[in-house]
Amino acid sequence: MTIHEEGPVAAVTGGTQGIGFAIASTLAGQGWRVAVMGRSAETGRAAADRLGAPHRFVQCDVSDELRIPEAVAEVEAALGPVAALVNNAGVGRPATVETLESSDWDALMAVDLKAAWLMTRAALPGMRSTGRGAVVNIASIHARLTRRGLFPYAAAKAGMLGLTRSMALELAPDGIRVNAVCPGYIETPPMVQQYRDRPDADAAWQHLQDIHPLGRIGRPEEVAAVAAFLVSPEAGFVTGASWDVDGGLGARFAS
Ligand code: NAP
Repeated sequence: MTIHEEGPVAAVTGGTQGIGFAIASTLAGQGWRVAVMGRSAETGRAAADRLGAPHRFVQCDVSDELRIPEAVAEVEAALGPVAALVNNAGVGRPATVETLESSDWDALMAVDLKAAWLMTRAALPGMRSTGRGAVVNIASIHARLTRRGLFPYAAAKAGMLGLTRSMALELAPDGIRVNAVCPGYIETPPMVQQYRDRPDADAAWQHLQDIHPLGRIGRPEEVAAVAAFLVSPEAGFVTGASWDVDGGLGARFAS
């Protein structure tokens, strides 16, 4: 049996593309056996194929409260108890205080906030049995700074930091660590598309790079490296923390 087949198990929600897929690839490369979770079977199977065996796709809409425990049980049956959970699935759509429907609020909060609690709760019994549990919640720079027109994404992501602290305190007696990562602008398909669709696409894209102290936006692999560190034994004394991965954007005044 190879080390790969013996590796600990990680589950990544929204692990089928973008930042989540980069996290899954990084963890797979570090010897974890990874379950990527998402709604689309087509995207999910393609992601699992790219990762190769023993990694798996497990279909799960994290806004479906009844499906979450079933999906976690499927991961456990296929790979074993989850030692690392990355709550990455998230959505942000244009809306304002006045245009947002109440049902849209509930739909966004279900994916961007509530699912992290439900996923953690479902994984907890198995995680305790591994003796090395770690949860990483993917929040956003919007947890602290935001802009007009994305309501209520910032509220959900700020909530993710409070959730991280609460869960870190509650699970510390079990030796389970809970941390958050706050990415800034990261080059993922929906982010790029948002800019391509603008009439001033080239200028806007350049402006986006220029506002970053490091002179560019981030890559999914750069978020993945921090998430992988946080679930690793090397981060054994890190819990209840949030880590910005934003190229310094959150450190500067607009000027
Ligand atoms: P993305 O490329 O749009 O990927 C989103 C992933 O989540 C996909 O795998 C998608 O697969 C899955 N997903 C969406 N809704 C889901 C649901 N209800 N249940 C299960 N899976 C679901 O997104 P991303 O840009 O990589 O963002 C990943 C995370 O980072 C999000 O939490 C986002 O808020 C955060 N973030 C991103 C940026 C950025 O610049 N990209 C910046 C800060 C924070 P299916 O559609 O098949 O379900």
